[in-house]
Amino acid sequence: MTRLLSIGTYGEADTKALDEMGARFVPDLDAACALDDAARADVTAIAFKGSGSFDDAAMDRFPGLGLIANFGVGYDAIDVEAAEGRSIAVTNTPDVLNDDVADLAVAMWLMQGRRMLQADAHVRSGTWAEGTPFPLNRKVSGGTAGILGLGRIGYEIADRLAAFKMDIHYWSRSPKKTPGWTYHADPQSLAADVDFLFVAVVGGPETENLVDGRLLDALGPDGVLINISRGSVVDEAALLDRLERGALAGAGLDVFADEPRADPRFAKLDTVVLQPHQASATHATRGAMGQLQRDNIAAFFEGQDLLTPVV
Ligand code: NAP
Repeated sequence: MTRLLSIGTYGEADTKALDEMGARFVPDLDAACALDDAARADVTAIAFKGSGSFDDAAMDRFPGLGLIANFGVGYDAIDVEAAEGRSIAVTNTPDVLNDDVADLAVAMWLMQGRRMLQADAHVRSGTWAEGTPFPLNRKVSGGTAGILGLGRIGYEIADRLAAFKMDIHYWSRSPKKTPGWTYHADPQSLAADVDFLFVAVVGGPETENLVDGRLLDALGPDGVLINISRGSVVDEAALLDRLERGALAGAGLDVFADEPRADPRFAKLDTVVLQPHQASATHATRGAMGQLQRDNIAAFFEGQDLLTPVV
């Protein structure tokens, strides 16, 4: 009997812990849906670590399902409305990853602004030793930063940037309690007022292409976009067009529209810093995410309140 089905690829410790909970393992959602009727009928909880779309049709395949426990805070791969309609609970892993994701956002900002990749190459290649100084670059601290989506991670990014003496502006659907950061009622006004725009909203259909050509134009030729949210939030064609024309100063991207394939046009630009969706990828944080996912599953099996329910 398979009460718990684990979908996705987990590290050694998480695999062992899920195994101890009696999980059956499949690599992806397609393999889960392809299990035989009896195996699928037994499943009451799914540990989900996938990028495939857990939609209504996929939920249909698991008639006894009561919980989808997502590994990650972003649950845009799961059709939450469909789950709610079927009384399937969904949990995620918020907060435990805030520091790592905010760290990477700030690191990309510094790397892009101070051209640290090029500077590193300048030393390694021996160019510096030959007597060629590295060109001066832009001062980034003390500038103006905008946070698009002042949620848990957005707040941590802003908090870090405040330590860099940045003037902090933000957009959210409503004003938040802050230490005096400037609220903008629309993303366009935010982009127009800042040098660096950090994208920290949720992914999914409601924020798709929220960062479009018009917003990038408001950010302008001195503007830099940092995205740790989801690739779907940014109109990549519009971003590439502006970067290639010099209508935007640069970008730092941890997420892309068609992961793990980043558009090869990005790699030709020396004004961008590219990361392989690794913002939460430290041993400590991934361990904490796995633990929180399992704590939710254990609470579900024991009939207790879920720790971090989404619906
Ligand atoms: P959160 O606390 O829920 O904050 C989400 C933000 O998105 C809030 O500012 C919220 O707006 C906004 N938002 C929610 N629904 C929206 C909608 N329909 N339209 C416009 N804005 C909306 O989430 P979080 O923990 O900070 O995580 C944010 C996102 O970061 C995740 O969803 C995930 O996609 C991404 N993430 C990426 C990585 C990575 O490895 N790169 C790791 C973790 C998370 P309000 O402020 O108005 O409520």
